Amino acid sequence: MGFEPSERALTISAQVEAFMEEHIYPREHEYEAFTQDQNNLWKTPLFVPELRAKAREQGLWNLFLPAEYEPWSPGLTNVEIAHVFEPMSRVLWAQSIFNCNAPDRGNMEVLAKYGTQAQQEQWLQPLLHGEIRSAYAMTEPQVASSDATNMELEIKRDGDEYVLNGRKWWTTGVINPDCKIMLVMGKSNPENDRHTQHSTILVPTDTPGFTVERPLRAFGSLHSPGGEGECRFKDVRVPVSNMIKGEGCGFEIAQGRLGPGRFQYAMGFVGLAQRCLELMCERATQRVAFGEPLHAKTSVQHEIARSRCEIEQCRLLVYAAAEKMDREGLAGARDHIAMVKIVGPQMAENVANRAIQVFGGMGVCQDTLLPEVFTRARFCRIADGPDEVHMSQLGKLTIRNTLNTAKAS
Ligand SMILES: Cc1cc2nc3c(=O)[nH]c(=O)nc-3n(C[C@H](O)[C@H](O)[C@H](O)COP(=O)(O)OP(=O)(O)OC[C@H]3O[C@@H](n4cnc5c(N)ncnc54)[C@H](O)[C@@H]3O)c2cc1C
Repeated sequence: MGFEPSERALTISAQVEAFMEEHIYPREHEYEAFTQDQNNLWKTPLFVPELRAKAREQGLWNLFLPAEYEPWSPGLTNVEIAHVFEPMSRVLWAQSIFNCNAPDRGNMEVLAKYGTQAQQEQWLQPLLHGEIRSAYAMTEPQVASSDATNMELEIKRDGDEYVLNGRKWWTTGVINPDCKIMLVMGKSNPENDRHTQHSTILVPTDTPGFTVERPLRAFGSLHSPGGEGECRFKDVRVPVSNMIKGEGCGFEIAQGRLGPGRFQYAMGFVGLAQRCLELMCERATQRVAFGEPLHAKTSVQHEIARSRCEIEQCRLLVYAAAEKMDREGLAGARDHIAMVKIVGPQMAENVANRAIQVFGGMGVCQDTLLPEVFTRARFCRIADGPDEVHMSQLGKLTIRNTLNTAKAS
């Protein structure tokens, strides 16, 4: 197994690090102050498009899309992507500067993989150019959405159109004025078996009958300028050409969409947790309590040591997942993909939690990114499927693989 960065990955990582030093870290407080100001609700700080243009000029753009998607992809392997994702994830909003943020990256991958030429021209190209944003609408308030086969939003064919009726919530990014397109999952073929009843269809956000009814707060935050919305679809009509891949493929698309996204997402947590660890070490050397700096206290040393172990374990697991994807594709890497989804957010939640304790009162206010890392890690143990669902999948896979190996020997 080779996890070492290639020359190309080393060069790009160094460029990303330099970009972070020059343009992103110096603006962290400005970004926080702007987005927390209620007068700026759903607005993006002016420097964001400027930084996106700079990143694009430097070729630090769309790096999330693996080589198999050429000509859309910049051509990196999954292991190379894993290496560049850590430095670009050390600030909560930095991935978006490089056009590598969720949910756009998963949506772009779906369109690159399954989109027709017309869908790619109309929606993939502007997304890849960073001209628009997108959302993925699967979860519904009235059903347990950790089971994707439960979705009820109706997609009914009527001549040359599909008509959509139903509700969605927790649709990330949909409130941002730049969000122009949604990938909506709904039930189109109730007569089919459980896994082929659903479809995924493109719905422009300005389609009559679609409304965002309210923004949701996650742990009290509106997450402006993206936001998570509760949405209604009332007789929403779109042309049949907006169907992605075909009727009944919604479940397959939902599963595939989150494959490479999952290790990138877990590496995002490695970047954030590493930052929390560095902050914790700095604080422990600066702060003196009861006659000695915090770093001299055994309990603080142990929290730092535990954090370092957990971060390194997760980092190596992400590299292993990426390497397996390069070698065996998504199907072969399924067990590792489940592992990183389980391990990444929990690890970051633990590390941020410890760092908050070492920071004392400062750890829970807006002066560091710690509270946001902690809350993001916590809700990501639910978003994209709760921990328990991935653990059950991994448990079943492990039992099956173990039995197959035993039979073969
Ligand atoms: C901040 C945030 C952003 C999100 N963004 C999006 C988005 O962009 N698009 C989108 O479609 N959705 C999004 N979601 C929704 C998210 O994917 C769902 O909340 C998640 O899939 C769980 O569905 P549910 O809320 O209906 O929980 P339920 O399905 O009701 O599950 C509730 C709980 O039941 C337990 N449970 C469920 N299944 C099992 C099982 N098999 N074994 C044991 N216990 C189980 C778990 O503890 C689970 O947390 C987001 C959620 C959050 C919080």
